[in-house]
Amino acid sequence: MTIAIVGAGFTGLSAAYDLAKAGRKVIVFDSDGEPGGLAGGFPIGSSTLLEKFYHHWFVSDRHIMDLIADLGLQNNILHRQSQTGLYYNNRLFRLSSPVDVLKFTALPFLDRLRLGFLVLQVRMIKDWRSIEHLSVEEWLVGLCGRRVYDLVWAPLLDAKFSTYKDEISATWFLLKLQLRGGSRGKNGSEILAYYKGGFAALAQQLRNAIVAAGGEVRLGQTVSQIDVHEGQATGVRLASGEQVPADQILLTTALPIAADLLAQSAPSDWLQALRKVQYLANRCIVLELDRSLSTTYWINVNEPGFPFVGVIEHTNFEPPETYGGKHIVYLSRYMPDSDPLYTISDDLYVAYALPYIKRMFPDFDESWIHAAHVWKADHAQPVTTRNYSKMIPSHVTPIKGVTLFSMAQIYPEDRGTNYAVREGRKAAALLTPP
Ligand SMILES: Cc1cc2nc3c(=O)[nH]c(=O)nc-3n(C[C@H](O)[C@H](O)[C@H](O)COP(=O)(O)OP(=O)(O)OC[C@H]3O[C@@H](n4cnc5c(N)ncnc54)[C@H](O)[C@@H]3O)c2cc1C
Repeated sequence: MTIAIVGAGFTGLSAAYDLAKAGRKVIVFDSDGEPGGLAGGFPIGSSTLLEKFYHHWFVSDRHIMDLIADLGLQNNILHRQSQTGLYYNNRLFRLSSPVDVLKFTALPFLDRLRLGFLVLQVRMIKDWRSIEHLSVEEWLVGLCGRRVYDLVWAPLLDAKFSTYKDEISATWFLLKLQLRGGSRGKNGSEILAYYKGGFAALAQQLRNAIVAAGGEVRLGQTVSQIDVHEGQATGVRLASGEQVPADQILLTTALPIAADLLAQSAPSDWLQALRKVQYLANRCIVLELDRSLSTTYWINVNEPGFPFVGVIEHTNFEPPETYGGKHIVYLSRYMPDSDPLYTISDDLYVAYALPYIKRMFPDFDESWIHAAHVWKADHAQPVTTRNYSKMIPSHVTPIKGVTLFSMAQIYPEDRGTNYAVREGRKAAALLTPP
């Protein structure tokens, strides 16, 4: 029996690894020339790989840690303290620990206490379903007050979900707060994890392990259709015209792509349900600088009108020596793929963004830039609106032999490589009955 997997992101690779190890004949296809999907990388300097979009893990991300241990690569996991900040009203505030929250003078003292207390309050909520019908605003204003919400949380929500911000389910926010709040050291500071060589190096090692176990990973090959005969999948058709027979097909792409691949054969109400889930795109500038902007790893930009909403100085997490002494800064923004900021040319986007960097860091000069790279992802974030659990499609599809495991089905958790591994391994177990 041949199993074809569409997508060599962490879901597809994890599934393929378990299937190949279980002796199944497995072929993974991906349009990209490199494995890793959204967590894939590009070369910086002569050989080091850097993520196209900033990536880290939380200390509780056990599924990815287990997979790394299975590969015998656990010595490559790095744990580090990270510094977080918030840019508001032309000022940079540090917000890494409970003490920082108490010193956050942008809010009156009582509101600072309410902000700090929120972390304890969310730990006590055990049933995410009880707040799923509420929007983040409806839920949070009740917990920490209007002023805290407007100043701290509303801009973050706007940054992440753009035009959908008022519709996002409180559950999404609850789990995000619980995850971040749980990744802390003894003094309350955030501890995050990274991988020696980057996430892309891990994706390559996973690919090598699949091949060593007898599987195939075909990169730079786009699947254009799933072939179906009398309701049963018979194989995949590639954009090159090649047909590859397969008895089972695992789709790990975004839902609209899965719908396109089955557009000729699946019932229209099922296709419609898949297309109902909305996504936001992400556009990310990666700057290689000859010096540092600040000592903070992650700065949320809570100022309206900025063309980016996160300044992530990666080399305040993984040292610049890894990148030949270059300082790496990501400028990130989520938006609908129809947004003019998503469609303008890379050069224009960079030129538009730089004056805002200067506003945040007045010493900054364009001569510091060694190189600028721009990356885009159309399906970067599924939009988890109220009662999203009712919108999630089943892993079982109306076409026999086609299974669907995608980032949009991970809820109530948010997307992340840890959950991609969990889902990929779940898919492999489903396709390998005892
Ligand atoms: C800006 C940003 C920051 C993030 N930060 C983090 C983080 O810090 N930590 C973390 O763990 N996660 C983070 N994530 C999320 C993480 O990258 C994803 O959750 C995870 O990589 C999803 O893996 P996946 O395999 O499910 O999907 P994808 O990675 O989307 O993989 C799907 C694959 O399918 C391929 N494909 C699509 N259509 C076809 C086709 N027709 N034929 C062949 N191949 C096709 C695509 O090329 C892609 O490689 C971040 C994501 C973004 C966008």
